[in-house]
Amino acid sequence: MRTAIYPGTFDPVTNGHIDIAERASKIFDHVIIAIATENYKNNLFTIGERIHLMKESVKHLNNVEVDSFAGLVADYARERGAQALIRGLRAVTDFEYEMQLATMNKHLNKKLDTLFLMTGNEYSFLSSSIIKQVAIVGGSVKGLVPNVVEENLRIKFNKS
Ligand code: ADP
Repeated sequence: MRTAIYPGTFDPVTNGHIDIAERASKIFDHVIIAIATENYKNNLFTIGERIHLMKESVKHLNNVEVDSFAGLVADYARERGAQALIRGLRAVTDFEYEMQLATMNKHLNKKLDTLFLMTGNEYSFLSSSIIKQVAIVGGSVKGLVPNVVEENLRIKFNKS
């Protein structure tokens, strides 16, 4: 059984994340989307909300599970018996940080390999932060995030 972990903050999940999850689900037998519980990024959505939004957004993927984790992803991967970490790569700006992360995770868990999936062109400039910046001032994020996320952003920022 080939298991991969797709870790992240997902605050909130975007269609770029879903694109990566869909592609990973075709390569691996089991994909665990692991949402970091730590709030060091000053998240907009609580961990409960982020789990709910992600579960709703990947309902169509039978071999994808949604979970949360605290602490090191390298330890979580060991506990879950995963062989790989999935990360999405957008522009070159992602590369240096991701390289550092992958090297550190390899140091912490020798059995774990990081696999990078290139994002689809239409999502290469999409991030959770830009979605929040647009939504907070009432801009439309339709087509860039799952419908359930769009609705919840509207509720959060109380825009109609
Ligand atoms: P983190 O806090 O770990 O960076 P994110 O939720 O921002 O968590 O992102 C999780 C993963 O998804 C990262 O590998 C990131 O590069 C990737 N990712 C983010 N946005 C996109 C996108 N638009 N297309 C593809 N991958 C993305």
